[in-house]
Parts: sequence; C-alpha cells; structure tokens
Amino acid sequence: MSVTVRWAPSPTGRIHLGNARPALLNWFFARRHGGRYVLRMDDTDLARSTRAFADGIEEDLAWLGVTPDLLVRQSERTALYDEARDRLIAAGRLYPCYETEDELDRKRARARLLGKPPIYDRAALSLTDADRARLEAEGRKPHWRFRLDGRPVQFEDLIKGPQTVNTASMSDPVLIRGDGSYLYTLPSVVDDIDLGITHVIRGEDHVSNTGTQIEIFEALGSAAPIFGHHNLLTDAAGQGFSKRLGSQSIADFRNEGYEPLAIAIVASLNGTSLPVEPYDSLDAIAERLDFSMISHGAARFDPAELNGLNARLLHAMTYDEAAPRLSAMGLEGEAMWLLLRENLAKFPDIAEWSKLLSGPVEPVIAEEDREFLALAKALLPPEPWGEDTWGEWTQALKAATGRKGKALFLPLRMALTGRHDGPELKSLLVLLGRKVCLDRLL
Ligand code: GLU
Repeated sequence: MSVTVRWAPSPTGRIHLGNARPALLNWFFARRHGGRYVLRMDDTDLARSTRAFADGIEEDLAWLGVTPDLLVRQSERTALYDEARDRLIAAGRLYPCYETEDELDRKRARARLLGKPPIYDRAALSLTDADRARLEAEGRKPHWRFRLDGRPVQFEDLIKGPQTVNTASMSDPVLIRGDGSYLYTLPSVVDDIDLGITHVIRGEDHVSNTGTQIEIFEALGSAAPIFGHHNLLTDAAGQGFSKRLGSQSIADFRNEGYEPLAIAIVASLNGTSLPVEPYDSLDAIAERLDFSMISHGAARFDPAELNGLNARLLHAMTYDEAAPRLSAMGLEGEAMWLLLRENLAKFPDIAEWSKLLSGPVEPVIAEEDREFLALAKALLPPEPWGEDTWGEWTQALKAATGRKGKALFLPLRMALTGRHDGPELKSLLVLLGRKVCLDRLL
C-alpha cells in the first residue's frame, strides 16, 4: 500500500508551533515511506477562514521545508460533501434537528440536574413529517446530526496503540449547520476517502472525533484509514498553543530570524525520544524518526532550547548554505562567514558582525592602554600575513611589556573590534589586513 497522508489546517489564523507539529510529523512519515503529502485547507468555516490565512499557511509550510504533492481546499469540494450527505440521509444516518441553541442548553441543564450525562436525547428522531413541516413553517432551518451506532469503536493507533472510543457516551454529532454549511467532521472523512488517504496523523485532541469518523467511513461504505494521534506540544508554561490566544506564529519566528530547521526540530522532536539537537535536514530526521519514538507524555517547548539549537545550527552552517542568504544581504566571503558564524544567535546578526570587517568600527581604547597600543602598532609585523601572524605579534608584545592573558589580549580586541567579545582574533587579524589594523590601534 503506498502511503498518502494529509495535513489539514484550518486557515483561520497563521500557524503556530503546535500546528507545525502535525505538519512535520506527516511529512516525516511520507518521506520515510516514499509517500504522498496532501495539504488540505479545512476552510468550510466561511466566517473565520480567509484566503490570506491559507496563503500564509502555504508560505509557512514552504519555509519549514515541506513541499506538498497536492493542495486542496474544502471550500471547492462541496459537491462531494453534498453527495455523501444525501447518501447518509438515505441510509437513515443523518437526521434533521430543529432545536435552537437555547433549547439545547436547557436540555443539557435538565440532564445534569437529573445526574445524567448531557447527551443529546435524539428527540428529533421521533418527529413526524407533519412535525417537521410545522417547524419549517415556523421558519426553523434544520441542522443535521449523524446517528451514532452507540457501540465501542476500536482501532489500533499507530502511535498510542489499541484505542477504544465509546460512541454511546457521545451526542450524535452535528455535521451540517442550520445554514447548510458543513462542520469539519464529514468533509474530512469524505476527503480522506476521495484522496485515498492511508494514514491520518493528527493531535490526540482528535481521538474521540476518530471514533465518530470511523463510523462515518463505515456508513459511507469505505474502510477507515490508519490513525495515529500524537501528543500535543505545549508552551513553556504547559499551556496549549492557540491561534485565538495569539500564540507566537511560525511567521513571527521567521521574522525574528530563526532558522526554519530549528523551528521544525523543536516543533516535532520535543516529546519524542529523538534528541532536540542539530540535524542536517528534515530528511535526516525522517530517516531516524520512527513513530514508536513519540512519547505518550507531554511535549513541551522550551524557548532557551530553541535559542541554543538555532545557534548550533548557525555555527555549523557551511558557506555554500549561507551564501545565497548572505548575498541577499549584500554580503559575501567564505573566510568572513567561517570567522563570524560562531558568534551568531540568529542569521541576521551577521549584518552587525560583518561590520567588524567592513567598518566603521569605533576602537575602544582605555587611557592606561595607550602606550601599550602604540607599542602594539609599532610591533605589527609586515605583510604578508598568515595563520602565524597573531602569535608572532602577541609573543613580541608579551616579551616587550610582560603583559599576558587578558591584560595582553583585551586591549587589542577592544581596539580592533570596539567590543569585549567576538570572533577569534587570530583569523580576524588576517582578514582585516595591516592597514586597517594600524588605523584601529590608535
Ligand atoms: N482542521 C482540523 C484541525 O486543524 C484537522 C484535523 C484532522 O487532521 O483531521 O484540527
């Protein structure tokens, strides 16, 4: 069986780390099994979905390094859902209900008073044709519920192992709203059938939906795909990420200069037994990540870990990888990159660091070091310069002044770079060249 997976975001906002997790886990699974990846926009909620959010999601996914084989939009597939709707109605599995929200609230309150679970009482199933005609004459528009089987639905979860969802403890779910629009549940099943989805990999908040949806697959005469429910990512405080609550979006991380691979690693590998550390690519993760490694416990995002990982990726980044991005910033030079990359926390920092080479640099010279620096200037070896120049120069200075360690090196660093910290002086010196060094030493 060839693998086809889908990631199905609702374009009701920009995606955050919690959304990126299933996007990536599906991608790893597809890559590992030579399968296809469908991006499905769950945009049936016309009031909250926008094309701009959908375009943004495509952009974020591409930035993360995921390239779908197919993009579908549920808003363009209504005819398929209508056909499924008609079949379910004909089979007696979808029935019209006329209760208002208020009436349903009252029913639930009454059930709770009686100590019963607040499950829909299926009153609408006993309506006669005449009752329905009367309600419709009052101007009521039906919403439609799926009649659950009320038996335990069992399935073998790819990640969580054997699962049972008892649909007897659930209300018959509403599949179609009073205005005729579809909620998520039915279109998802219809698309999974139509697109030949073999594996549905999504967050564990969907386990009970899976019980309902397996019944819908069966009611439509199709075998259900294999399901895998992963643990959800939470923020550092243990809260779930949420578009509505304004969690930091993937686009925000991008704008802040984070590496897509760093974001992908923290979004996907927290809460697995694969370490959160640098990998060469998403494919390198796909090769290693077996779904048995996804833990059943929580997956927590740690911003400090992201920062550390981001820096480690930059410190190991080859010039070939960096060059196109440098050139977009008007920068070039392998030696410059190899010297400065170890100082980067985020890629855009290179613009600032590169000024150490291109200038202008405001040398910082303490009064008590003036004499020392004048001597340093005098002892600066003649060109050509190479790897040994720094050693020769500082040895000569040490011999002449008796200074060593910080007293020897820090005034040189402060003069040459204008700061306390920064790249290795040995290589920096060569890149600066004698003339620039002479200028900065006083
Ligand atoms: N649009 C749904 C969500 O974002 C998709 C769930 C699914 O993968 O079926 O939660």
